[in-house]
Amino acid sequence: MIANYGYKDGSGEFYISIDTDKCTTCSEKGCLESCPGQIFEMMVDDWDDEVAAVKASERNKIKMTCAACKPTTGRPELLPCQAACKPRGITHSW
Ligand code: SF4
Ligand code: SF4
Repeated sequence: MIANYGYKDGSGEFYISIDTDKCTTCSEKGCLESCPGQIFEMMVDDWDDEVAAVKASERNKIKMTCAACKPTTGRPELLPCQAACKPRGITHSW
């Protein structure tokens, strides 16, 4: 399942999507430690699988939190959270 966390406003759409099917077989869970904003947490979903999620307290401010990882020039091909997610389960909409 693709779980989307974020919001949209007049300046755009700001969503982080997590492919939770990949979390169920992920042993490293690199997302947790890689994010300087500490926005990820593990939760148990409706199917009793342990999957990553964006903390509820962080969802409405991810544009601001992620700005440090997203320079307007020289942005890395993979953001820190994406590079640490070995199964490649994280995408950003912006
Ligand atoms: S590193 Fe990726 S696949 Fe693993 S728990 Fe985190 S988001 Fe899920
Ligand atoms: S872009 Fe940076 S701040 Fe945003 S979720 Fe990824 S690692 Fe965390």
